[in-house]
Amino acid sequence: MPILFLALSAHRIDRDQGTLFSPALLVSDFGPKITIKIVEGLREDILAGKLKSGSEIKDALKRSVLELLTEKGDKTELQLGFRKPAVIMIVGVNGGGKTTSLGKLAHKLKKEGVKVLMAAGDTFRAAATDQLVIWAERSGSEIVVAEVEKAKASSVLSQAVKRGKEQGFDVVLCDTSGRLHTNYSLMEELIACKKAVGKVVAGAPNEVLLVLDGTTGLNMLPQAREFNEVVGITGLILTKLDGSARGGCVVSVVHELGIPVKFVGVGEGLEDLQPFVAEAFIDAIFS
Ligand code: GDP
Repeated sequence: MPILFLALSAHRIDRDQGTLFSPALLVSDFGPKITIKIVEGLREDILAGKLKSGSEIKDALKRSVLELLTEKGDKTELQLGFRKPAVIMIVGVNGGGKTTSLGKLAHKLKKEGVKVLMAAGDTFRAAATDQLVIWAERSGSEIVVAEVEKAKASSVLSQAVKRGKEQGFDVVLCDTSGRLHTNYSLMEELIACKKAVGKVVAGAPNEVLLVLDGTTGLNMLPQAREFNEVVGITGLILTKLDGSARGGCVVSVVHELGIPVKFVGVGEGLEDLQPFVAEAFIDAIFS
């Protein structure tokens, strides 16, 4: 049972003391700021005895989290615009699941009849291109890779979007490098990538999706802040929810930055990318 829920229940018992704040809440996966906000929101009803049973508190808690997730994060569908090709950049730190998510997203779009081209923009790590080539084969997508060693990521993406435009692709999915997010040159590279694709198709990229590893807890928030500040994130992909991770901290990201979660990763297979459904996500957290 999540710590947040336990703490709320405990405080319901102690409500005569008139306090709902507890150090226990600080260690919950939701993070201190959002925990206080949620508890403050429920305080009156709990103190007035309107929320009596554990299940009433649990339901009220779920409603509060749903509100936080949907008030600013309701655009959960991909926004691909009307110009072809639509360009989706996938960004995030190494190991979070960028390449895997890109492969799964390609498969999902292809099943919907979308003509997909992949761009191997992680030119920093040679293995990343090999991995993306495998995903291209698995999903039956075409792919543009760097022609020379140590090519600039921005030129690979630019070349891919040009090909996408000339050959009538609907969507170009761009992988990017993920070396440490504190590494400034990565951020410079991402800015260059964004500019490069925008020069080929006005308005591109249509989406910049940040991949967040659901097991990283509170580290998600500084990562999201930094990527958002530099490249402007339009949506989140929350990965690895198939393990013990529940990804509660993403509620803070959605609330603070107003960026919707668009997909969740629930495994390593082709079919393991699902559209984000706030209610189902909350049920899993509080189950
Ligand atoms: P990248 O460095 O961000 O491109 O990350 P990768 O796509 O290479 O993924 C890193 C590892 O996480 C790989 O072993 C993936 O198979 C694994 N992975 C990615 N997404 C998921 C997921 O949703 N669930 C699980 N269980 N593993 C995942």
